Amino acid sequence: MTTRLTPLLRAWEWQTEAACRGMDSSVFFSPPGERGKARRRREHRAQEICRRCPVRVPCGSFAVASDQRYGVWGGHTEADRRTTTAAPAADRV
Ligand code: SF4
Repeated sequence: MTTRLTPLLRAWEWQTEAACRGMDSSVFFSPPGERGKARRRREHRAQEICRRCPVRVPCGSFAVASDQRYGVWGGHTEADRRTTTAAPAADRV
């Protein structure tokens, strides 16, 4: 049992150091239909938190690897991730 759980725990252990730990998910996830200034304001506030987060890189990588479609992860918005994952591999850094 421990053997099977260990990889799963490793996949999530970066979250223990997350700057957003304990925060309401509404800080990072827009409600359905939110657009324009309200959406940009929410995303900018989330990105400010992510900017000082020590696990920003693994968080962003996890979001791309697990195809997270919604919310701000690793300082990247939904639109940022769509652009990144749509680019040919040679364009990614
Ligand atoms: S990078 Fe942002 S969303 Fe990811 S763990 Fe840190 S604060 Fe949370």
